[in-house]
Amino acid sequence: MARCIWNRAHWMLGNGHYATVSRCRGTTVALWATVEEAEAAKAAIDALACGGACVRRHEVIQLEMPSAVLRARTAVTTGRAA
Ligand SMILES: [Zn+2]
Repeated sequence: MARCIWNRAHWMLGNGHYATVSRCRGTTVALWATVEEAEAAKAAIDALACGGACVRRHEVIQLEMPSAVLRARTAVTTGRAA
């Protein structure tokens, strides 16, 4: 699902409905199952910097979609992947 939203991200890892997004050098995304994990990850990124060009552009996003939109995205993904 998140792959549809950030299909232009430089990289993405993990799985879940919470995402830490870093926009310092391109867009990088990590997914987490719980908001606690996502907040902890963002705190670590804030403390350590995400890379050489870090400008502290980090955020936590909760992925939430209306079921109709989710179905549509699933259909599109399924069609393209087949
Ligand atoms: Zn950064």
